[in-house]
Amino acid sequence: MESKNLKKVDLIFLDTPYSDIVQILQRSIQKTPDDLILEVIDSGLRGRGGAGFPTGLKWRFAKTEDSAVKYVVCNADEGEPGTFKDREILQTVPYKVLTGMAIAGYAIGAQKGYIYLRGEYNFLLPELLKHIQIFNKTLEELGLNFTIGIKSGSGAYICGEETALFESMEGKRGEPRNKPPYPTQWGFEGKPTVINNVETLVYITMIARLGAEQFRKMGTKASSGSKVFSVSGDTPIAGIYELELGMPLDEFVAEFGDGDTKAVQVGGASGHCVPRKLFKDTIIGFEGIPTGGSMMVFNSTRSMYNVLHDYLEFFCEESCGQCTPCRVGCQQLLKGIEAVKRGERKPEYLDDLKKLAATMKIASKCGLGQSVANPFNSIIDNFREEIIY
Ligand code: SF4
Repeated sequence: MESKNLKKVDLIFLDTPYSDIVQILQRSIQKTPDDLILEVIDSGLRGRGGAGFPTGLKWRFAKTEDSAVKYVVCNADEGEPGTFKDREILQTVPYKVLTGMAIAGYAIGAQKGYIYLRGEYNFLLPELLKHIQIFNKTLEELGLNFTIGIKSGSGAYICGEETALFESMEGKRGEPRNKPPYPTQWGFEGKPTVINNVETLVYITMIARLGAEQFRKMGTKASSGSKVFSVSGDTPIAGIYELELGMPLDEFVAEFGDGDTKAVQVGGASGHCVPRKLFKDTIIGFEGIPTGGSMMVFNSTRSMYNVLHDYLEFFCEESCGQCTPCRVGCQQLLKGIEAVKRGERKPEYLDDLKKLAATMKIASKCGLGQSVANPFNSIIDNFREEIIY
């Protein structure tokens, strides 16, 4: 596996004057939509929300749909525990997000874009609305038939799942839809929709500025570019950092740990818990462990039973309850580790619970239920002695 040394990058938060933003837009709409999409494909950009789907391909699928009405949606429903970087991006460089949306709109032939803002981030609304008003005026002056609006969520984690997000935008209960059809075919209001994460859209703006080749020089073949990480937990320097993709986890720990790191939860509660013995062989990137942007550092004072218990309580609370494997499975995993911890069940019962988690992975309807096995199995496998009585 290709790896890169840990390297801090200053791209996303780089101060970009509004006149430069206008120039980026002007230059972009001088290109044909097909050329723009090709540039995004060439850059190798993959979605920064966690799933890592190639952004340019997503745009191409939406563009080829035969529909007079299409949408671009910015997914700002950042709810993964330990993740807080999109909030910072929206506060610090909102115009770069809006520019990415406008470029996407031009590329796929959409006339309208929405930011879906997490309910807990409603305090950002007044400032964002001001920026959107200025930006929409600029789009009009440039002759671009695209306007941006904003819709607020109400605090449900599941609404970060793209189809549940559309349901919520349409004023319905936020429950995931069956896929296919995919959002590029049947998205918001049943129309072809490109939905991209906040950070992905900023990288679109930076690719439009720097060019695909420059972007691809960073990171690795499978994980081009950089990524913004929310670093929290047992670290003396918690915060938000932009780092080149493809770094080995041991270098990350050397930089951000407190000298006593025993595990890093990569990708929030739904990600993998990597123990110290695997730091050296773990690459942060799509060829190793991809992450939506959360790195939680745990030192030896932490009980991994408590960590897993917290995660499972979170999933029980946030499961939408629509499908049985997830609704019942989350509860059973939680009750199961409690029973083992109390000594009411033998340690071998943890292996039965791992089978349940594996079943949830294949039988759950959406990413929430499918990903519970990631933290569950990685903690049980690596910290079993902390779970048992
Ligand atoms: Fe709802 Fe969970 Fe099923 Fe997803 S996996 S649809 S969150 S019950």
